[in-house]
Amino acid sequence: MRRRALLAAGLPLALPTLSSPSPAPWNAPRTASQALARLTEGNRRFVEGRTRHPHQQPRRQHLLASGQQPFVITLGCADSRVAPEILFDQGLGDMFDNRVAGNIADDLVTGSIEYALEHFQPPLIVVLGHERCGAVAAAAGALTTTAMPDHVSILVQHLRPAVEAALGRPGDLVANAVRANIALQIRCLHRSPVIGSRARNGQLYVAGAVYDLDTGEVRFV
Ligand SMILES: [Zn+2]
Repeated sequence: MRRRALLAAGLPLALPTLSSPSPAPWNAPRTASQALARLTEGNRRFVEGRTRHPHQQPRRQHLLASGQQPFVITLGCADSRVAPEILFDQGLGDMFDNRVAGNIADDLVTGSIEYALEHFQPPLIVVLGHERCGAVAAAAGALTTTAMPDHVSILVQHLRPAVEAALGRPGDLVANAVRANIALQIRCLHRSPVIGSRARNGQLYVAGAVYDLDTGEVRFV
């Protein structure tokens, strides 16, 4: 990704440049900036209706039968409209997806991400929120009601700090809470010793992004 594009995306100029120790037998991004560029280009194709559906042929499937080297780990919402491979126009073996309503980095999800980091050493994690997230809206609604199913309340507990952080900010509460939640989950991930140490060593970059349901655009925040 070029300097101007990084600045436009609000990303730091100094991104990790270390290579993965075991290169994939295909042209996988090796640095965070390369990975971000791959995702940005794929999302642009998606927005403009020029998707290529890469890496979905039988040859790719057969290559992957003996191993994988995803270049990015995603933590996204389970929302049916926010499927990472589709939004970023990627394919099999490209993305190690973790999806749960509200894109929450609880212990199970963090363990899943740590597993992927230990085994595949991708240079990038993307925490992917989206507009009008139902889970975040439920957490906002829970400020004024206590009636909700047992396990939904567990989601709400995880999202409540993001909603509270967004209270009082100008604009739409849910939209602001979606962004606050992305920042919150990134902080949670950095508390993992596995993730935090890699990030501090420059081996890993944890990015936040918001998917626009109306335009199809993913904006890194
Ligand atoms: Zn959602």
